[in-house]
Amino acid sequence: MRVLISADMEGVAGVVEYDDVRPGTVSYERCRRLLTDEVSAAVRGVFAVDPQADVLVADSHGDFRNILPDGLDRRARLVRGRPRRHGQLAGIEDGADAVILVGYHAKAGVEHGVLAHTVAGQVIFDVRCDGRSLGEIGLNVAYAAAHGVPTVLVTGDEVTAAEARDVSPGIHTVAVKQALGGWAAASLHPDEACARIEAAVPGALAARESIRPLRFDGPVSLEIDLVRPVMGEPVLLVPGIERCGDRGVRYAAPDFETAYRIVELVATIAPVGSIVS
Ligand SMILES: [Zn+2]
Repeated sequence: MRVLISADMEGVAGVVEYDDVRPGTVSYERCRRLLTDEVSAAVRGVFAVDPQADVLVADSHGDFRNILPDGLDRRARLVRGRPRRHGQLAGIEDGADAVILVGYHAKAGVEHGVLAHTVAGQVIFDVRCDGRSLGEIGLNVAYAAAHGVPTVLVTGDEVTAAEARDVSPGIHTVAVKQALGGWAAASLHPDEACARIEAAVPGALAARESIRPLRFDGPVSLEIDLVRPVMGEPVLLVPGIERCGDRGVRYAAPDFETAYRIVELVATIAPVGSIVS
């Protein structure tokens, strides 16, 4: 069995605020260890099912260099660093039997999701594919599905868990904290969170045939709302990208993979520096 684990950070037990996920802070150094432990718990869950499994972990928060390599379960391989072609699902190009999302968060605009945002919170206000608003969970579930791979388990706060069930009926979830707002949560103890994640993996892998992930077949109409209209100006230099509404851009993508990459592109080139407050 080959399993790809993509690890974000906002949805880890104990994490509630920007300093917890921002490199250079004391809190970040503590929280990246909590992240590493939750990912190792998921790795153990896979090996409990298949001792011969091939497990690839894609570090997928911020600069994609958060997991402590020497703290991760030694049976997994770790993908670090960016940019990279398949973003948060690096490794999907080689195929997999299942994807697991650890430490994920709700999409931009969700009031009661801890650190809710979509891809780049400073610049992206909303992403819609064929009119459907999608966060990182929806985008990654559909991207994995486009490669024929079901996403079987998502961990994060309970708002994140509900979002996962919405885009992937039948998916398994572990809510490691209850959101009390955007910057507050009632969290499980990290050891308890790890125990629940490890315990959830076998059932999630066993259910993979019955999960019905969101998928887009054929062309996708992509719309991205930006935090400020000016952020769209460099984006509009890309041939084929057009203005859409006051603050948005639009792209007619030939397939979902292209739409996913355009979201990455916009997050990369839209100028954060234009924020003035
Ligand atoms: Zn994220």
